[in-house]
Amino acid sequence: VVIGEHRHTQVHVDLQAIKHNINEEMTRKDPLTELWAVVKANGYGHGIIQVAQAAKQAGATGFCVAVLDEALALRQAGITAPILVLGIVEPEFAAVIAEHDISVAVGSTDWLAQAAAVLAANQVAQPLHVHVALDTGMGRIGFQTPAELADAVNVLRAANSPFDFEGIFTHFATADQADDTYFMHQLSNWKALIAVVDELPRYVHVSNSATSLWHQACNGNVIRFGVALYGLNPSGTELSAPYHLQPALSLTAELAFVKKLARGKSISYGATYTAAQDEWIGTVPIGYADGYERRLQGFHVLVDGQVCEIVGRVCMDQLMVRLPKAYPVGTKVTLVGTDGDQTISLQDVADYCGTIHYEIACGLATRLPRVYT
Ligand code: PLP
Repeated sequence: VVIGEHRHTQVHVDLQAIKHNINEEMTRKDPLTELWAVVKANGYGHGIIQVAQAAKQAGATGFCVAVLDEALALRQAGITAPILVLGIVEPEFAAVIAEHDISVAVGSTDWLAQAAAVLAANQVAQPLHVHVALDTGMGRIGFQTPAELADAVNVLRAANSPFDFEGIFTHFATADQADDTYFMHQLSNWKALIAVVDELPRYVHVSNSATSLWHQACNGNVIRFGVALYGLNPSGTELSAPYHLQPALSLTAELAFVKKLARGKSISYGATYTAAQDEWIGTVPIGYADGYERRLQGFHVLVDGQVCEIVGRVCMDQLMVRLPKAYPVGTKVTLVGTDGDQTISLQDVADYCGTIHYEIACGLATRLPRVYT
């Protein structure tokens, strides 16, 4: 991976904002409920280690990731708190999981059988921490029926089991929507399923950010706090959060080249934009290879507190904007964030692209240096 350290195009991450968002949730949740910070996908593009450390300082007592390597990276950074891998890890890695004291989601007894064989073959002494995933309507991973679940619990709790049955959880598909019909359907499936487990494990969890913000009553004893810790509203704009979510991320660059373009001349691939009059055009060193999508042609950036349209196609590494006047090379360009009294949010970028802010945030390429304040 090559990081563009010698280019003034940067992702800025305000760790105080992350701490603020966690603090808000910490004061709101039941004091016995733990907050585990979801830092998968490089901390939703913000930087996994830095976010995890800030979250820990703000009171997070565990972490969730998607891929085993993300968990290993946290361990390597000295994090000793529980780490849950939310996705299915191939059972061939069972020894690595157990040896690093990592917890994994499990959704089938088949997986348990395969993992047990790997643990035995490697003579692993440590137990493998398991969070049983229940598919209550997300349709992604997990046990769907009481019978399957009961079988799994028997395997987990058998004498000499190599497993530590540490958690049970589910994931809601529509907690971020105003209409709670499907949410209630999932909740009743959840209740019916967990009823077959005689003694619930230590960690019982159902809440992503949206569930915790808008359906707090069903939090369990851990919340998996993701997008809201980055200051982003999980519902987009559909529901308002019970407290101010402070966005942690901004994205800036500088004008790398400024010129006057004569009326009638065109810009970028396909010559899709032609100057209607003589215009000042600035070139900004960021493009779709940085995760700044090609679809953003016609969207805008901020220069000197003013909205400037992106004209012509966004290239792989550069884009052009129409300036209200000549600005010197090196003038700051804000692609996400605030300049003067104007703000461009990740939500604005996502709306323009027809997607969600999650996708824009975690799509910001590793080529962009992350700068922390
Ligand atoms: N829990 C699970 C199982 C997830 O897959 C995710 C993220 O997609 C989260 C929690 C965190 O969700 P959010 O970022 O919406 O809080």
